Amino acid sequence: MNKPIIMFDMDGTLLDLAFDDLIWNHKLPERHAKTHQISLEQSNQILFKFYQDHKHTLDWYSTRFWTAKVGVDTFQLQHDHKEFIKPRQGCIALLSSLKQAGYRIWLVTNADERGLALKMNQVDLSSYFEVMISSETIGFAKERFEFWDQLQHMHPFEPRHCVLVDDTAVVLEGAKSFGIEHLITITQPSSSQPERERSKLQYPAINDLRSLIPYLDQINHEKEMNVKTA
Ligand SMILES: [Mg+2]
Repeated sequence: MNKPIIMFDMDGTLLDLAFDDLIWNHKLPERHAKTHQISLEQSNQILFKFYQDHKHTLDWYSTRFWTAKVGVDTFQLQHDHKEFIKPRQGCIALLSSLKQAGYRIWLVTNADERGLALKMNQVDLSSYFEVMISSETIGFAKERFEFWDQLQHMHPFEPRHCVLVDDTAVVLEGAKSFGIEHLITITQPSSSQPERERSKLQYPAINDLRSLIPYLDQINHEKEMNVKTA
């Protein structure tokens, strides 16, 4: 029996979202305030408004968009703090065991192409993946049905035989609308934020990434049972 394809989100799933919190919620307001000679409070207000207006769109994930919008080179800002890019708990161990077990592993990220390259330069996970793709390449954010549709055109997959691990509920909903069957989320995407309560999340949730293995065993077991009873 074929094993499912396991698709992973990057930021907040394989990598600690604390880096992105640091950049977007601390370092950008600081540099934005300095650049425009305004107070940090004013800067926070302006940026908060921009964030609300663009959340979950392709622009939201584009360093080029933000650079043009706020007058700070947001790619350079990430580059300047790249030493804070870190894998989440159990990341390397999980990817190694999946690869050893013969799973096909994909990285599907809303980070733009330059952001993806910067992060893989810092924490090199690229050898584990059969496919690595940015929503910038696809032309739609992962929140959208069209992302999954385009992805399938570029890299054929059977949605009912895929697992997606992603820390963002809206992304999981997009994947669900396309028919991706097994959806798993993360309780603590950022080590600088408190862990989310499992009961408040809409999807089965793990924290240490190695906890994915029992889920996969269960999925494989259910598939086998379905074949036997079919
Ligand atoms: Mg994420």
